[in-house]
Amino acid sequence: MLEKEVNNIEETYQNSYIDKKEEEVPVIALRGMCVFPDTLPKLDLGREISLKAFKAAEENNTNIFFPVQKDAEKIRPTMDDIYSIGTLGKITNHSVSGSAEDAVSIYVKTFCRAKVLSIEEGDYYKAKVEEIIEDDAYSKEREVALKTAKEYFDKCVKQVTDLPPKLFSSVKNETSYNKFCNIISFYLIKDFKESKKILFELDTYERLQLVIKNLYILSEEIDINNEIMEKVRNSVNQNQKEFFLREQMKAISDELNESSSEAEEYREKLKKIKLDEKSFQKISKEIDRLEKTSPMSAEYSMLCNYLDWVFDLPYINMSEDRNDIKEVERILDSEHYGLESVKKRILEYLAVYKFTGSVKAPILCLVGAPGVGKTSVAMGIAKALNKELIRMSLGGIKDESEIRGHRRTYLGAMPGRIIYNMKNAGTVNPVFVLDEIDKMTSDFRGDPESALLEVLDPEQNNSFRDNFLEIPYDLSKVMFIATANGLSNISQPLLDRMEVIEIDSYTDFEKLHIAKEHLIKKALKANGLEDKNVVFENDAVKYIIDYYTDESGVRELFRQINSILRKLVKSKLEKNESFDKKIIVTSKTVQKLLGNKKYRKEFIYKEDSVGEAIGLAWTSSGGTVLPIESALISGGGDVVLTGQLGDVMKESCKIAVDFIKSNAKEYNIDEELFSKMDIHIHAPEGAVPKDGPSAGVTLATSVLSTLTNKKISHSYSMTGEITLRGRVLPIGGLKEKALASYKNGIKNVIIPKDNEKDIEDIPSTIRKEINFIPVSHVSEVFNYVILN
Ligand code: ADP
Repeated sequence: MLEKEVNNIEETYQNSYIDKKEEEVPVIALRGMCVFPDTLPKLDLGREISLKAFKAAEENNTNIFFPVQKDAEKIRPTMDDIYSIGTLGKITNHSVSGSAEDAVSIYVKTFCRAKVLSIEEGDYYKAKVEEIIEDDAYSKEREVALKTAKEYFDKCVKQVTDLPPKLFSSVKNETSYNKFCNIISFYLIKDFKESKKILFELDTYERLQLVIKNLYILSEEIDINNEIMEKVRNSVNQNQKEFFLREQMKAISDELNESSSEAEEYREKLKKIKLDEKSFQKISKEIDRLEKTSPMSAEYSMLCNYLDWVFDLPYINMSEDRNDIKEVERILDSEHYGLESVKKRILEYLAVYKFTGSVKAPILCLVGAPGVGKTSVAMGIAKALNKELIRMSLGGIKDESEIRGHRRTYLGAMPGRIIYNMKNAGTVNPVFVLDEIDKMTSDFRGDPESALLEVLDPEQNNSFRDNFLEIPYDLSKVMFIATANGLSNISQPLLDRMEVIEIDSYTDFEKLHIAKEHLIKKALKANGLEDKNVVFENDAVKYIIDYYTDESGVRELFRQINSILRKLVKSKLEKNESFDKKIIVTSKTVQKLLGNKKYRKEFIYKEDSVGEAIGLAWTSSGGTVLPIESALISGGGDVVLTGQLGDVMKESCKIAVDFIKSNAKEYNIDEELFSKMDIHIHAPEGAVPKDGPSAGVTLATSVLSTLTNKKISHSYSMTGEITLRGRVLPIGGLKEKALASYKNGIKNVIIPKDNEKDIEDIPSTIRKEINFIPVSHVSEVFNYVILN
């Protein structure tokens, strides 16, 4: 097929060229390769016929014709075995490579394609050839083809390293279409068949097309080749990585002695701690497992973590208790003002503890408003007994696992807070303060209270179970002290396990003393000052209590004192002054440093008025005045309630209204009012929720005043639940309520008769100032407060 093509080409050629150079030259037929004009081929000659042709050319200094041999196998080709188109060149150099000059390498410079006109046979072939004049005339088509070919060449050339550098730049700048084709074909196109086609092709554009096709194939091959290379490289990298890891594994297994020594260390530790037989076996097994686990695995570090927890816990380490009750008393006294009954009960409790040598007595629960010193008393107990102290707030705990921990199967599992804190304590007999036990809630994740019951039960807590730890832990030597703001949110089973000690709210007098004897000292120290630097006048402290705090405890008071000292230090520093001269803090200083008053002492209901009665209420943060207002509005006899009243309080309203209704005649009330008007009852401040039955007398007083249009005296405050018959029932929180009334300047306090016995609990300073009026029926209240 190729032959046919070539013949066609030859015919075309004969018709297209006029001016032809003819010459007679020796012939060296090439086998399996072509040479192209404009190149510098090196050819190895071995056949006799070729060597003779070379010699003849050398001797006569002639050119040589290099045609392609059709059948590469033939050692001595006939004339018919040679294609008639070839390349004409001149030998520039040669070297002998065989011993008997039977192998010669020649270096040739080729200059044009030529066609055989006639051949003469002899020792070697001699042919008459004529030069093929290339058609290199410019055409748009050829130019575009050349550009495309150069682009592909660019792509290929980056990957082809055996191209002579000189050639590379000459190819890039080549403007002759045929020269470009020749150079590319000789140096880049390795496919013999394709090379032949380009060699024989006489149409310049077609030659360019053939070159483009071959460059394209080449670039594709290069791409594929690169891809393969990349894959190979990656696989080599992977192999290298595996090799590296294997080496590491080997190194680690060499180190395995180390890991077994880690297990040994745990075994040593196990011997030293006190565990029951079952727990001992369990931990032994875990250590065995550790030994068999690869140190590289996640399981290994999980096991280590677990064992560390087990061994970091205290088992026998005990702090030595101070047994001197007198010393305990001294420490408690030195750190706390007042609290006599609290201290007395604590000392009794500790005496029993010392006597029995066990903490199996019920757990202490200190109950009181925020800032009354519950935590600080608990801390005082720890200090006095020389025990470690742990504080754990239960406020907001909803999840049982916070107390009992997560099972080890969970990712990142940890022991619960009890075990966590025991580890921090480092001893088996710390004081463990459970703050805000009344703020614990429960949800779908389990009930934390049941876990806490186990912790607090002296019968069970010697084998407390933590989900993470999996072995029972002995909490029986721990002294638990709970704190709470109120008892109402604590469940009965929990209450049953505790001995409740209530800490009352402080009077202003007590607050003054606490401030003078403790808070100021503490704050001075915290700010790097001493007693001699700053002195607070009593009036200044009172001024802070009255106008910058509104609390049952002293936390805010402490904060404000701190704030004053901070400001003093800052201003001294700014002015570059020292504290050499004692600073006296007066009410004026307080006002200057703390700014506008935050709370008013004066009560808003100064003037006696219709429908406004002054009640008293108890909240978890202490006592407060709870005014009740009522008014008549046209309507159909309804009772309208506003001010966020709870269900119990709403019922109280109904009882109060119904009591008045049923006794309307006695109080000279026009009964028609009940059907023509609505009674609106409101309890300011509207945004604060209120509840409880103790506003009964206040509600009834307000409603009666409104219906009879008679004023209420505002020199009385009142508290008491009422029945439908008007009987007054006892209430709780008398001390706090009395304090609130006193603080608001109302010295007459109407209380249920049954609460008379509680008056003695109220500090004598307040008691002396207040006129308690015990009543057993609401009509007695009316007699005092409704003015005629
Ligand atoms: P609670 O735990 O009841 O909320 P804290 O124990 O935190 O209150 O007390 C708040 C601050 O008031 C602490 O600095 C504490 O020392 C101080 N404090 C409370 N009561 C007294 C007191 N009776 N004597 C001395 N300082 C007290």
